[in-house]
Amino acid sequence: MKKLMAANWKMYKTWDQAVDTAEGLVGLTADKLPDDREVLVFPPFTALKGVAQALSADGFSAGGQDYYIDQEGAFTGEISPMMLKDAGAAYGLTGHSERRHVLGETDEFVGQKTAYGLECGLKVVLCVGEKIDERKSGKVEEVLEHQLRVGLKDVPRDVAPDRLSIAYEPVWAIGTGEVAGPGEIVDAHTFVRKILVSVFGEKGNEMRILYGGSVKPANCGEIIALDNVDGVLVGGASLESESFSQIVLA
Ligand code: PEP
Repeated sequence: MKKLMAANWKMYKTWDQAVDTAEGLVGLTADKLPDDREVLVFPPFTALKGVAQALSADGFSAGGQDYYIDQEGAFTGEISPMMLKDAGAAYGLTGHSERRHVLGETDEFVGQKTAYGLECGLKVVLCVGEKIDERKSGKVEEVLEHQLRVGLKDVPRDVAPDRLSIAYEPVWAIGTGEVAGPGEIVDAHTFVRKILVSVFGEKGNEMRILYGGSVKPANCGEIIALDNVDGVLVGGASLESESFSQIVLA
């Protein structure tokens, strides 16, 4: 299983800035990228085509940060999986905490998007994670199980395992500099693995589980070596090619 090193650029970067960063990343990593690593960048939609072109080297791909659950139609402001693929995206992202908790997406809607993206031929990274009050009140497993079972409800049980990844992103660790501890990461990932196996059988062991939440060059090596950590999803530290390239090669 290749480790998936993913960058989420959120609502940052113009076309030129995004293409420059993507080209810088390829320049710093392509000839050193180990066979067991894959690099993925989620740029803003407006730069997707340029970034996908810049990431045309083996082992690199681009994805869309979001999409709607239809191919086309009267959905002002939305974008479809077909349009993402047309712009060069291989992946789609669902359930990011900012979409759940800032933009109000429900677990059910996240589940519809996850199944629809896969049906349309995207690979999908589904994000799950608890808020700090949920962790403090001992509800981590309850929250993760609900987000996963609802988020995966309509995903075909025979989906190819390399097409679906889960990103465990504790909400309190995203953009805060407060990274989850190794024990917290291993416990959560082990639990996610258990749910994946209960949903998909043995194939659940072949699906990647990424960690996200204040990953930096200084902590990535330790995190990526933990049990059941099959990659990382990185926000802030992925915005500069130098810093993200250190993470990719950690
Ligand atoms: C993210 O946006 O998914 C994320 C994990 O952000 P950061 O790395 O900045 O915490």
